[in-house]
Amino acid sequence: MTIKKSVQTALIHTDYKAPEGFAAFPSAIHHASTVLFKDVAAMRSGDWKNKNAYTYGLHGTPTTFTLEARLAEIEDGKHCLLAPSGLAAIAMVDFALLKTGDDVLLPENVYNPNRELGKWLSQDFGVTARYYDPLIGAGIAALIQPNTKLIWTEAPGSVSMEVPDLPAICQAAHEKGVLVALDNTWSGGLALRGFELGVDIIMQALTKYQSGGSDVLMGALITRDRALHDRLAQAHMRLGMGVGADDAYLVLRGLATLKLRFDAHDAGARKVASWLKTRPEIGTVLHPALPDCPGHDIWRRDFSGAGGLFSVLFDERYSEAQTDRFVDALKLFKIGYSWGGANSLVMPYRIAAMRKGWQLKGQLVRFNVGLEDPLDLIADIERAFLTL
Ligand SMILES: *Cc1c(COP(=O)(O)O)cnc(C)c1O
Repeated sequence: MTIKKSVQTALIHTDYKAPEGFAAFPSAIHHASTVLFKDVAAMRSGDWKNKNAYTYGLHGTPTTFTLEARLAEIEDGKHCLLAPSGLAAIAMVDFALLKTGDDVLLPENVYNPNRELGKWLSQDFGVTARYYDPLIGAGIAALIQPNTKLIWTEAPGSVSMEVPDLPAICQAAHEKGVLVALDNTWSGGLALRGFELGVDIIMQALTKYQSGGSDVLMGALITRDRALHDRLAQAHMRLGMGVGADDAYLVLRGLATLKLRFDAHDAGARKVASWLKTRPEIGTVLHPALPDCPGHDIWRRDFSGAGGLFSVLFDERYSEAQTDRFVDALKLFKIGYSWGGANSLVMPYRIAAMRKGWQLKGQLVRFNVGLEDPLDLIADIERAFLTL
């Protein structure tokens, strides 16, 4: 039945329904805060945890459910939750799994904002956050206390590039009932199969390769265990984590080309890194696929690729002022955080101040090799070396 409406009401309500059966490749973008229920009974039986139905925009739309399902499938997991940034996804793990009196272990080379979060939990929330040598392997067993609930891993650390022994860490953790979370951003969720190696939670910054456009911030948490997923989902709900439909669409759009782009970043980065290895200006190339990198043997055992991100240590005769000049002289490599997009990036880090126990010498500069021709990137670096 059509009801009689004034123009003002007709501007808001319509009886028109587009025909069903529209088909196209792109996923539909569903924008919603409010989700409509057919009747009161449907509303009353609505459960925000149930992904077969919809209750509120924050808890999911067809667009976000589709992205979650696809990410879970790619990682060979079962469940996925989206967060408005990679860091928000990290925070969600901590708030879901840690309470006052608990202990969390983080690698010394952990993504720095994750370290900041650990510091905050220690200062204000009565949780202890302790840091371990990323190459500790099975030795982590000695650090696990009765109140240790979570071990963060990152493979490799995204500045200093040490590759951890995940199976050894997971085995030691699981023997003592401790959960292991992996920041799997570097491998794009493609080149490292975290669940096969034993981790319980995989976190990804979709901001990087999955988006691929340097235009979106998003994070994901992927799990296999339903009970663990439910604990994370509870925190997701309580913290009000959600992502915008357009952003979810941009990541969905990136997935089809994810592996092609990742492999191209990987090939380009290996060319640039191998060339750097031959140069007298460079002391050490910290690229997991090259033998100088701590944990290289583990990378060979556990990874099927490397992507575009690696670091170098300049020969120790160069000062920070000199390597800063080098960075400023680059033209194709832009100075900026983040990575995973088409543009090459560069960033100098004061690694000795960041890392307790850092032994290696030389100024650290991190490269993100984009999708430009690697020969042009090499020429750019060669030109900038002249300013050293
Ligand atoms: C970028 C990044 C994050 C955080 O992602 P954001 O979306 O920028 O918050 C976490 N871990 C690693 C290793 C990263 O590179």
